[in-house]
Amino acid sequence: MYLRMAKRALFETDKRLLWKLMYNMGFKGLRSVYKFKQRLKRGEYFPPFLYVSIINSCNLRCQGCWVDVAAKQQTIDLTAMNRLITEAKEVGNSFFGIVGGEPFMHPELFDILEQHPDCYFQVFTNGQFITDEKAKRLRKLGNVTPLISVEGTEIVSDERRGRKDVLSKTMQGIENCVNNKLLTGVCTSVCQTNIDDLVTDAWVDRLIEMGVMYTWYHVYRPMGPDPEPDMALTPEQQTRIRKFVVETRATKPIGVIDAYYDGEGRALCPAATGISHHINPWGDIEPCPIVQFSKESIHDERHIRDVFRESDFLQDFRQLAASSTRGCIVLERPDLLEELVVLHGAKDATVRQTALAELQAMENRTSQYNPAVEIPEKNLIYRLVKRFCFNDFGAYDAPVNPLPSANKESMVTADH
Ligand code: SF4
Repeated sequence: MYLRMAKRALFETDKRLLWKLMYNMGFKGLRSVYKFKQRLKRGEYFPPFLYVSIINSCNLRCQGCWVDVAAKQQTIDLTAMNRLITEAKEVGNSFFGIVGGEPFMHPELFDILEQHPDCYFQVFTNGQFITDEKAKRLRKLGNVTPLISVEGTEIVSDERRGRKDVLSKTMQGIENCVNNKLLTGVCTSVCQTNIDDLVTDAWVDRLIEMGVMYTWYHVYRPMGPDPEPDMALTPEQQTRIRKFVVETRATKPIGVIDAYYDGEGRALCPAATGISHHINPWGDIEPCPIVQFSKESIHDERHIRDVFRESDFLQDFRQLAASSTRGCIVLERPDLLEELVVLHGAKDATVRQTALAELQAMENRTSQYNPAVEIPEKNLIYRLVKRFCFNDFGAYDAPVNPLPSANKESMVTADH
């Protein structure tokens, strides 16, 4: 399997792109995690991986989406992105996740990517704007991997994404990418309507046949203005996905990403461990894309390193999230999150201004945390890489103290 994967990477992608991935993302990415760990030892904080939503607009209307896609268009412009990336590079970062809305609707996307050839970008997209010409431009840049979302069969895709012919247009975008030998990924937000179609060997084999190099399984989280609780997975289904991911990594020549477990199969929350935080199109810094509350902005005059380092809100979020559960605090304890937001006077970072009411309306649910079933990695490489650069970084070692640093009396004690 290792050999088949290496052969695929060598023969199905552009060698220059492979080199960029290995150097900008592999070597420099590991270095940024090493620096992150050194910072933690000094009691300083700055995440090695930033996810930046550069635009709110999107051509689709997906069920359960929490982004204000229909609101007036807002972007992070080239100047602000250049400043953010340059300052993050000064701290040692080299990887940036570019999210939306739909990033390919951003008029300066290619300028952003082009002006930082020493970085690596993963662009989360529905793929529908990736024409052959755009794929050629991405190949020329070399420092980008498109991660294209597929949410189900033809009927399910149209239903979930609120438009006609969604799947065929997206598949065309994937084809344009692989035809141009890009390192192409496909991601899926797994829910009740697609688990039986896309968390399967047949689907993964089809992706391999198409030339897709990696896939990423998210789990649908019912929150935001129009949550769809009926689409949420049961704990058994979440375990099924974890088993499938571990097995696929060990047997099939395709990369599989999931962001909820360390190498030993213990659950974690990437925002609680501090490996990443999120920036929305208005420049507000949020704990993660679905926690739409903020106290800080990238448009602050301070260096981005100081903005993160001095944020009590983010620090308290990490502490509260880690001391409440190894899973997702938003799903498991929205009540605690609400108290944290109120305590800090964090602003609602949405256009609709209903984020707090949405949080209050949420029911406590299960998430990826299921200590009764921990499934360690079977693939040695994943296990080793995760041991070094995707683990909890000691976030869950602290004594349980879910109370943030400000007014501790007003907080509820976590009872997990
Ligand atoms: S809070 Fe939940 S959704 Fe956000 S990063 Fe953590 S596990 Fe993921």
